Amino acid sequence: SIVQRATPEIMASTTKPHLVLIPWQGSISHIIPMTDIGILSASHGAAVTVITTPANAPVVQSRVDRAAPPHGGAAPAITVTAIPFPGAEAGLPDGSERLDLLRSPADVPRFFAANKMFGEAVARHCRGASRRPSCVVAGMCHTWALAMARELCVPCYIFHGFGAFALLCIEHLFKHRPHEAVASPDEVFGIPVLPPSFECRVTRRQLPPHFSPSTSMGGSHMQEMREFDAAVDGVVVNTFEELEHGSAALLAAATGKKVLAVGPVSLSHTNTSLDPRTMSEDARRCMAWLDAKASRSVVYVSFGSAGIMPPAQLVQLGMALVSCPWPVLWVVKGADSLPDDVNKWLCENTDDADAVASSKCLVVRGWAPQVAILDHQAVGGFLTHCGWGSTLEAVAAGVPMATWPLFAEQFLNERLIVDVLGVGVSVGVTKPTENILTASKTVDGSKAEVVAEVRKEQVMEALERLMDQGAEGEERRRKAQELKLKAKGALEEGGSSYVNLENLVHSFV
Ligand code: UDP
Repeated sequence: SIVQRATPEIMASTTKPHLVLIPWQGSISHIIPMTDIGILSASHGAAVTVITTPANAPVVQSRVDRAAPPHGGAAPAITVTAIPFPGAEAGLPDGSERLDLLRSPADVPRFFAANKMFGEAVARHCRGASRRPSCVVAGMCHTWALAMARELCVPCYIFHGFGAFALLCIEHLFKHRPHEAVASPDEVFGIPVLPPSFECRVTRRQLPPHFSPSTSMGGSHMQEMREFDAAVDGVVVNTFEELEHGSAALLAAATGKKVLAVGPVSLSHTNTSLDPRTMSEDARRCMAWLDAKASRSVVYVSFGSAGIMPPAQLVQLGMALVSCPWPVLWVVKGADSLPDDVNKWLCENTDDADAVASSKCLVVRGWAPQVAILDHQAVGGFLTHCGWGSTLEAVAAGVPMATWPLFAEQFLNERLIVDVLGVGVSVGVTKPTENILTASKTVDGSKAEVVAEVRKEQVMEALERLMDQGAEGEERRRKAQELKLKAKGALEEGGSSYVNLENLVHSFV
């Protein structure tokens, strides 16, 4: 059955514009920013409905609850609607409502089949709802949302979860296909998207799955997504216009669509993740550990919501982290599936068991409060997989990055961070790491490598540059601080993202 939780304000309101947001439920990293877009839109006067699945509804609801002012005042006008996910009808076990909850890559096509049926249920719900949407914002894989929006005669925006620079590169790759002109998957070629002189230099191997001959998602889904992309009325991007050197405007020119940069959306939560009433035990442990560290002394290490490394690679990274001179806060995902010897190594080398404030390396095996960590004055650098959410959160906090892309569009983000923005140092990874969408096949169709590409020494070298106290490090810190100020300004009244949110909420396409 469909479950809805709405604030009294939204029930009473009939005149407000009504934004319906349907995050792609494949990944928590899509659900987070779309919920935050909802929170920001509500603060611009919209009534907002976020439609998701039952297993994901608590993620949305807890963010919405945290956005409410801690000492009273109006709660954001947001309804969270949970519509059952028809996983069983597609042959999935109960609760398979995100890609990270699937048993294996073989379940991915079933997940997409279930998502189609989910779309039919969402459309039925929206058709019958007492409050019609005035605008729909759909996650990138919800290709069915376009027909629904057309039937309801309302504009349909897409949210990819990518930055504008990456989207611009992808648009160029689709249109001009420079990757097809190179002789090997390791030959470097340029994507000339930022005139007059900047070329994004990558290899075919490093491109997002759109350009890979085999993904567990299947080519027909990729094609459908491309058609969806081409047909929507506009694009909502978690970025701000001042950040990506005009990429949003160039994307608008290249696609002929409205491109609304409305971020950094994590700033909708300033300080609220530190509220002790809502902090998890892991979060409390992280904040207490950081409180005992000197200003800008800590390296924060995280590879996103789903970044799992081969065990051999994890050990090389771990050896660098335990031997480097800086305190390290390290988030490890997938620890359940690590071989016993690696798990033992982790426990013995990282003081995981006793989280004493003086320990050099704090390992978090659950969910870390990333935005609050990056905002903490003890953090001096971020070793990141360059997921767009993490990238923007680092930018918003003014923290320089060491870049270790894993997959998807992360190699494109790395080039932006290092070459365009000058706020990062590259670890120098050349090959993507396998994930559920690319598992068992690499770009070439050969078996993925399970050995460690990146050695301990290479990680150490990148960390030394990241934490460098000399002129080079100082210049990166200065640029990062400059971007932090611009990020904050973008969301202030009259700022570029503020104006774009007004546009999204009040004038539609
Ligand atoms: N995140 C978090 N705690 C964790 C891991 C991830 O809060 O332990 C959040 C992070 O702040 C970001 C999102 O999850 O908002 C990850 O998104 P990103 O686009 O960086 O990477 P993805 O998970 O898609 O690879």
